[in-house]
Amino acid sequence: MPRMRRKGDLPEKICAQCGRPFAWRKKWERVWEEVRYCSDRCRAEARRGRHAAPEPDGSAGPGTARTVRPGGS
Ligand SMILES: [Zn+2]
Repeated sequence: MPRMRRKGDLPEKICAQCGRPFAWRKKWERVWEEVRYCSDRCRAEARRGRHAAPEPDGSAGPGTARTVRPGGS
């Protein structure tokens, strides 16, 4: 099973706005730990306010598994 490594060893993150993975960029080398969005566009949209985007609180990672049981009893 190949891992999610395609181009070199660049680290990846998940955009907090659009939810897509994006790779490290040169311009982020100093602020990579603070980068949350894949692009200026996503960052701008996130600032503008999320009105129609159901977004997890950010604390939930992509590996968060919740067990939801339909029909409690
Ligand atoms: Zn994005």
